[in-house]
Amino acid sequence: MDISYIINELGEDRENYYNAVAPPIIQTSNFRVETVDALKALFQDEHSGYLYSRGLNPTVEILRKKLAALDGAEESLVFNSGASAIFCGILANVKAGDHIVSVDKPYTWAQRMFDVVLPRFGVTTTYRDGTRIENFERAILPNTALIYLESPNSWDYKLQDLRAVADLARSENIVTIIDNSYCTPLYQQPIALGIDIAMQTATKYIGGHSDTVGGVLSGTKAMMKKIFESEFLNTGSGIQPFNAWLLIRGLRTMPARLERIGATTRKVAAFLKAHRRVEGILFPFDESFPQYALARQQMQGACGLLSFYVHATSREEIVRFCESLKHIMMAVSWGGHESLLLPKCASLEPEQFDPAVKEHRMLRLYTGLEDPDYLIRDLEQAMLLTWGKLQ
Ligand SMILES: *Cc1c(COP(=O)(O)O)cnc(C)c1O
Repeated sequence: MDISYIINELGEDRENYYNAVAPPIIQTSNFRVETVDALKALFQDEHSGYLYSRGLNPTVEILRKKLAALDGAEESLVFNSGASAIFCGILANVKAGDHIVSVDKPYTWAQRMFDVVLPRFGVTTTYRDGTRIENFERAILPNTALIYLESPNSWDYKLQDLRAVADLARSENIVTIIDNSYCTPLYQQPIALGIDIAMQTATKYIGGHSDTVGGVLSGTKAMMKKIFESEFLNTGSGIQPFNAWLLIRGLRTMPARLERIGATTRKVAAFLKAHRRVEGILFPFDESFPQYALARQQMQGACGLLSFYVHATSREEIVRFCESLKHIMMAVSWGGHESLLLPKCASLEPEQFDPAVKEHRMLRLYTGLEDPDYLIRDLEQAMLLTWGKLQ
């Protein structure tokens, strides 16, 4: 299916709303039902029609159809955050006594669920470096129910070979979930590679304007129905109609934004690589990336997020550099119009900072939609203020 068709037409039913080009926001909590039999049918299967907006809603329905098509999946569910999508996707696929194999250092709130929530219910998790399939193979136990992936990871960009993991999991009857937020389905299609559930935050590239929060799960009809009927309805974490509308609006420009961000990222990466204050960059589509070949093989694009290591002898230098930026903001998240920086040392106690540890001198940069030269000038002046001309 053409991406342009999915984004501009699929799921939209314009003749039913005055041929408006933009869809209406059906801001309602409940829906009138005309017959007792229809009501009975909805009670039996809320997934079959409109009853109550905690379940299905027509504005959300448009978004669900587009997202499922983009993922090449039978169906999608849209949540009020990426974190709730992760929570529901995992919870629906484990029971007391089960075991999970997760890639090392998954997204904070996935890890929090594995470390804090699930152990209370007798579900344990083993973390493994996912760059080698053997590490996963060896971690599988008879009670392993789930393999949790994030490729690339959003800090160190480590990849997993998705087809190899999917083949392994299928042979052992294990469900696979991937956090595909870095790539989005435009740049990586996990479902086509055999992964069962593709998760992505919609807050980042889909929304694209840093003004709404959302999350997506995609998979088979049976899997989505299972999640809908239990965790989705039970946690009441489905997306609200207005937020769904913002995400439909974001989708219209997503390919264009990613293209632009990709071009900017390449320019900024080249600037950083050439700068004598920079020890190196970490970016999946840079030849220096340890898994460059795999990145080229399973991803159609990489953009936005990259990390770089500065030559610094103290935490103060990094602090000065970050606080000298005039346009690039310090903030969490990414995927919006605005460029953002996050220093690794913000997650360390000052006395823990060790300049000999390369990772402590890491900065994660998200390049947004600004002019690339505007961003490069900002980085340049902050370097100059921090380290002076001769450096
Ligand atoms: C932001 C993010 C999430 C969570 O999404 P929210 O919408 O913020 O809940 C999950 N995974 C990754 C990789 C993220 O960057």
